[in-house]
Amino acid sequence: VDDMVLLAKISEDAIVENLKKRFMDDFIFTYIGPVLISVNPFKQMPYFTDREIELYQGAVIENPPHIYALTDNMYRNMLIDGENQCVIISGESGAGKTVAAKYIMGYISKVSGGGEKVQHVKDIILQSNPLLEAFGNAKTVRNNNSSRFGKYFEIQFSRGGEPDGGKISNFLLEKSRVVNQNECERNFHIYYQLLAGASQEQRQNLGIMSPDYYFYLNQTDTYQVEGTDDRSDFHETMNAMQVIGIRGEDQQLVLQIVAGILHLGNIGFREEGNYARVENPDSLAFPAYLLGVDQERLNEKVTSRKMDSKWGGRSESITVTLNVEQAAYTRDALAKGLYARVFDFLVEAINRAMQKPYEEYSVGVLDIYGFEIFQKNGFEQFCINFVNEKLQQIFIELTLKAEQEEYVQEGIKWTQIQYFNNKVVCDLIENKLNPPGIMSVLDDVCATMHATGEGADQTLLQKLQAAVGTHEHFNSWSSGFIIHHYAGKVGGVPQNRHLHPKTAPSSHQKQANDLVNTLMKCTPHYIRCIKPNETKKPRDWEERQVEYLGEAEIPKPLWGSVTAISPRSYAILTPETWPAWRGDERQGVQHLLRSVNMDPDQYQMGRSKVFVKNPESLFLLEEMRERK
Ligand code: ATP
Ligand code: MG
Repeated sequence: VDDMVLLAKISEDAIVENLKKRFMDDFIFTYIGPVLISVNPFKQMPYFTDREIELYQGAVIENPPHIYALTDNMYRNMLIDGENQCVIISGESGAGKTVAAKYIMGYISKVSGGGEKVQHVKDIILQSNPLLEAFGNAKTVRNNNSSRFGKYFEIQFSRGGEPDGGKISNFLLEKSRVVNQNECERNFHIYYQLLAGASQEQRQNLGIMSPDYYFYLNQTDTYQVEGTDDRSDFHETMNAMQVIGIRGEDQQLVLQIVAGILHLGNIGFREEGNYARVENPDSLAFPAYLLGVDQERLNEKVTSRKMDSKWGGRSESITVTLNVEQAAYTRDALAKGLYARVFDFLVEAINRAMQKPYEEYSVGVLDIYGFEIFQKNGFEQFCINFVNEKLQQIFIELTLKAEQEEYVQEGIKWTQIQYFNNKVVCDLIENKLNPPGIMSVLDDVCATMHATGEGADQTLLQKLQAAVGTHEHFNSWSSGFIIHHYAGKVGGVPQNRHLHPKTAPSSHQKQANDLVNTLMKCTPHYIRCIKPNETKKPRDWEERQVEYLGEAEIPKPLWGSVTAISPRSYAILTPETWPAWRGDERQGVQHLLRSVNMDPDQYQMGRSKVFVKNPESLFLLEEMRERK
């Protein structure tokens, strides 16, 4: 069935069975009530052509489920109701979120009108993808083009429905990837693109060597990605910068910093009386040149640290020399910081190019990575999982609220829907006081411990234990802690000894809350992407998928399938009123349902609709009519 609400029995098995069947028949889209499920086909499906765009555009007839139907619905809702819309795309890595987001943008770009200016905005919207993917995506074990950042893309429209502006908010770039990667994974695409695609002149100026020369690229020995041409992608990236309006000299600076980071990574250290010294002073020259800093300053930067100290009421700055481990950490922190700035610069450049003076309507697309549970979970996983916890909360609030509001409005009897409200987990993380949540405790520890303060881990664990130790969604042991998220338990060890006051966890919390506030002001839509297998092959359905459709995730409607039944269309079932019911519409429906002996427990008359418990009863009506 197209919509799983129409399944005779909505059990998890039935849902999975239905999805599998459809997947094997090449139907990747299915609804579960308000959610569009999309199963990654790992092959090009034939139904994404102009013909389908035509078919779904402003369609009044019922078409098969499709991402175009959802997108068209958003677009029309926005224009007709004058309400901002958003779509939350979720799913594990490699499930097809980014591809889905691109289909949405492509569809909108095709169906909306425009002149020269609008076309320019459309070009920027479409070109922002290859640019941000070059700098924000990487090959991982699970996805050759994995987004390592979250993105909320707002397309802004004029009152006439033309896309004439836009805004991107980016979240949680996986900066750690700049300096090391897991086995069989790569650094961000841009590095390999630059190495493969740079001109002769650029090679000279930027000191381009083969990838195995650079420490930040050679740790995993993975350089090539099947099906990816880094060289042609490089030209696409540069072209995107051009379209977006980044000036030639800025383009060169971006590349210079990217290359500078690679050379920075090649600065090694040796120990001399407990202190770090740069192994080969010549290795400082090139990164210093590319990054536009004095060589001696760079040397100081990576081997020492300035600290403020208070002494007798006076504060002064003292310089502390670092050991080898600390020096390598400082070098890496510099590399990560620089890269993140470049990324933010690109996002800003795109935003500047799409900026409009005032906002009218918008459609927002959220493509953010889902829950992560690894062998080793760090601060990055903690932040990602927190965002997902918040998203689940919005989902619960908005869908259940909308549904229950409708029951009230229609005046039907209903009981509170039972579901797990994950607000308790959100509170565990983000409470400010009484007791402070995990974020607050982290903030506190970061602010009071020095960057390499020994014992920070223990302090953190002790403070967490004191603050939330008795919380039912929290456990800790001597060297780590576990959070029981709605989607599963995630255990992690603290940040390590290198907590830095500037990484204030609360800034991530603020980002997550800003996002939630934005989403709460929109009419939401949901796409749940599903990865049918780990092989990345078409027509391969692995049974392991079941858990990702956890019951808890999709609260089921109590009174399903709200349908407008017209006594006219079923008049044939009530011969005494044939050919037409002349009285009150409502009484007509009542008369109809009574004459077919519909079980009164199975339906309720709302003010403008009939609510049925079991959609089968509606099929029955259909069947009876057909048999007549
Ligand atoms: P991540 O969280 O790692 O960024 P993702 O959910 O964004 O993962 P995508 O990059 O969108 O995953 O998809 C992974 C790959 O799956 C794509 O590169 C493409 O090969 C394939 N794929 C996804 N969706 C489709 C689709 N609708 N049709 C054909 N192939 C698809
Ligand atoms: Mg992605």
